[in-house]
Amino acid sequence: MIIGGLQPVSLLDYPDKISAIVFTQGCNFHCRYCYNPMLVRPATVGVTNTTGQPVYSLADLWAFLDQRQDRLEAVVVTGGEPTLHHDLPEFITEIKRRGLLVKLDTNGTASQMVKQLVQDGLIDYLAMDIKAPWNKYDQIMPLPADILSRLTAEAKITAEWLLTDQPLDYEFRTTVVPQLLSAADISLLAEQLIGARSWYLQKARLAGDLLDPSLVGQRVYTDAEMVELLAIAKAKVPTAQIR
Ligand code: SF4
Repeated sequence: MIIGGLQPVSLLDYPDKISAIVFTQGCNFHCRYCYNPMLVRPATVGVTNTTGQPVYSLADLWAFLDQRQDRLEAVVVTGGEPTLHHDLPEFITEIKRRGLLVKLDTNGTASQMVKQLVQDGLIDYLAMDIKAPWNKYDQIMPLPADILSRLTAEAKITAEWLLTDQPLDYEFRTTVVPQLLSAADISLLAEQLIGARSWYLQKARLAGDLLDPSLVGQRVYTDAEMVELLAIAKAKVPTAQIR
């Protein structure tokens, strides 16, 4: 496990719980609007950050959680992409051994690992990014076609598994950027997500250090446009919301 960062407390990231956020290092996606490039690069898990060391050691993390056990209710494991780390199950087991709930944020590209984690009772809340309609992930990230096709197929398996009424608290979430996702795309997405228990549309933050610097300062959807997109989403997925 390579820990890229730790946010000691959050009131927003785990629904209705006080959580800490653990950021894992490395991601297999390359979303143009990603505002955590320091967690995506280097993209190869096994290579640590530019100092050659994990930013946060596991020993430090366990010590932190042991100190805060009474004040925290949950840990959010996010990235990067946490499922790239083969020891994620053991890592989450250690968190749960401390009596804390676990939320996993994932892009869904490791369907087997996600299913196993859920079946083993290691996940209390799952948030899965749905980037675009399945055949349009190339709008979001410039990856070689064969890699993108394989990763998207995996994400589709994970999403469709969640849609089979899994007894798990979960949400889908989609970051919407005018340059990358149109109203027609939202309509296609809604078709894909019929039956979703929860689906959030969220505006991108096109500022700061983005993976694609050409997006910095570009137009984002207005609040009124977001409401229009939500109406399109709700036509097929009544549980859709704006975050
Ligand atoms: S937005 Fe998430 S999935 Fe996309 S590159 Fe960044 S960390 Fe990876």
